Amino acid sequence: MRPDLILKTLEGEGFVACFVGGCVRDTLLGRPVHDWDITTSALPEEIMALFPRCIPTGIKHGTVTVLLRGESFEVTTFRRDGAYHDGRHPDGVVFVPNLTEDLARRDFTINAMAMHLDGRITDCFDGKADLKRGIIRCVGDPERRFREDALRMLRAWRFSAQLGFQIEDDTARAIRENAGLCRLLSRERVCAEAEKTLLSPRPETLSVMLREGLLAACGIEGDYELHALKTVSAEADARWAMLKVLIPKLDMQQFRLPSRRVQLAETAAAAYRPSYARQELKALLAASGEEVARVCAKLSNQEALLEEILQSGECVSLRGLAVNGRDFPALQGRSAGEMLRRLLDHVLAFPEDNNRQTLLRLAEEWSGNSDADGHKDVGDVKRQQKDTL
Ligand code: ATP
Ligand code: MG
Repeated sequence: MRPDLILKTLEGEGFVACFVGGCVRDTLLGRPVHDWDITTSALPEEIMALFPRCIPTGIKHGTVTVLLRGESFEVTTFRRDGAYHDGRHPDGVVFVPNLTEDLARRDFTINAMAMHLDGRITDCFDGKADLKRGIIRCVGDPERRFREDALRMLRAWRFSAQLGFQIEDDTARAIRENAGLCRLLSRERVCAEAEKTLLSPRPETLSVMLREGLLAACGIEGDYELHALKTVSAEADARWAMLKVLIPKLDMQQFRLPSRRVQLAETAAAAYRPSYARQELKALLAASGEEVARVCAKLSNQEALLEEILQSGECVSLRGLAVNGRDFPALQGRSAGEMLRRLLDHVLAFPEDNNRQTLLRLAEEWSGNSDADGHKDVGDVKRQQKDTL
């Protein structure tokens, strides 16, 4: 919910306070707002004195997190960023008394508007006009702004992907000319922007980022055709897996993603097929488990088929077999495991055989008749029958 109370409290004490950045942009666009960021003339200690429940999140940079009704809101003192020497971090920040200067440090005109409690918009850089025309344009000289913080180049394309906006010519040219600076960015920051692009309605925008070298900090650049990303539902595991399918040499570790996500996406990408036969999807469930199969089914748009298999009650795991290791006391641990796996293979093809009696009989036949004597087991015979049908 919009935290009007925070603005009212600050204004009641004589400070200037307004909503700023993404929440103003999204309100004007009629899009849902996920963070209500507030900018104010109050200093961090003054903010903290007014709100009993708050966290000094980035006190050096003027940011205090205020907790209200179980939600948290970032309240930041009007500031100007100091000089940048590494293209990544301002050397320090300076608190300033007016809103205009605070808006001037922001990246793009559409992100540099403030909204007051009464709905008034402070728009010093024509952000509203750019929103209307669908344009992403730097506040000030793009060259300088990208040299200050190279991440802004990725942010420009990320917003373009999320909003479907064009990047204004001078801004786009400055990105092409300064892309090399992105090599120095931290991988975590690059990953955050890459993932937002990946999950946007235009994930293929990543191909521009790759072509221009904006993701070089994560060890990957070049020409890649990524339109297929769009065919996959916008969920992180599935879209990362599809990216790995489309760029096999992608090293996901370099993106500093959680290792669970890296592993899942890599396993799913290795098992990827544009389409699975029912039997293949069952085999995948048995070999790699439900989590991997779910991602693969998303990649091939076969979630309904997977659901049907799971609902059918057919056995797709060792746990689902009508027998277990204790049913084969005569076999050593390893051979018992091998027997169970062989039975599972059989049951995957012949679900109707998943009952104790049949499986014990099969196991007995297999143990009694080594394959070397040319004896055919029930499964082989049935398989032949099935093939000839
Ligand atoms: P999102 O919807 O993804 O949260 P956002 O615009 O709110 O988009 P944030 O990263 O949350 O983006 O940043 C909040 C605001 O801070 C931005 O709208 C912008 O005004 C400013 N900002 C963020 N990062 C930068 C940056 N690297 N350089 C300049 N201004 C920035
Ligand atoms: Mg935000």
